[in-house]
Amino acid sequence: MGIMGTVGTVGTVGTRSAVIRWVDAHVSPLELLAELAPESELRRAGRGYIGWCPFHNDRAPDAATGAAGSASLYVVADRRYGWSWRCLSTNCAQSMGPMRHSFRLWQELLGVSVASAIAEAARRWAMTAAVGEQVVSPDSS
Ligand SMILES: [Zn+2]
Repeated sequence: MGIMGTVGTVGTVGTRSAVIRWVDAHVSPLELLAELAPESELRRAGRGYIGWCPFHNDRAPDAATGAAGSASLYVVADRRYGWSWRCLSTNCAQSMGPMRHSFRLWQELLGVSVASAIAEAARRWAMTAAVGEQVVSPDSS
């Protein structure tokens, strides 16, 4: 599975974290946005949900055309891949790359590092010590 175990970067720890996997599997972006960014006002749109992006100002009218801003945060639940999200505006850092899962949204909304977001998640969802330990001390082996 291409595990680069010796690199030990935050990113490597992140993808292997039990807390991240738990959040991705059990926490919906809708729940996170309702709690941490209620101004995003997500509403149903096709197979998913669309709302105001908390990561850039999509309410502002277009500088060139004066056209009204449009909601650009997209959230969708897939039966196979679970919840994912991204911003549909090319003006936004959250539009680059693949769809993101719930943990990434949690981290971005808190505006903290992966390690801090893991610690916060473990507290927020009262993870067991067993799950927490795997995550909090990745260097112990
Ligand atoms: Zn955005």
